[in-house]
Amino acid sequence: MADDGVIHDEIEIEDFEYDEENETFTYPCPCGDLFSITKEELLNGEEIARCPSCSLIIRVIYNPDELESVLSAKAKQSTSSLAIN
Ligand SMILES: [Zn+2]
Repeated sequence: MADDGVIHDEIEIEDFEYDEENETFTYPCPCGDLFSITKEELLNGEEIARCPSCSLIIRVIYNPDELESVLSAKAKQSTSSLAIN
C-alpha cells in the first residue's frame, strides 16, 4: 500500500480560490495553511491538492471538460477583486 498521506476530504473545484497570477487553486487547510494545486497539474490529470505545512491532502472533484469554463469564471472573479488595488 502506498503511504502517500490520507485523503482528508474531497472538494469541488468550484469551492477553491483561484490565483490567476500563479495559476494555482487553493483551499483552506485545517492547519491554517492552504492546500494548493496548479492549473497545469489539473490539466495533466492530477487531482490531489497538498498542504505545504502538514501531511493532509484533498482530492479535487472536477470534470476535465468543464475545467476551462471554471477557469474563466474564476478569472472574472479575481479580476473584479483586483479593483480594490
Ligand atoms: Zn495543512
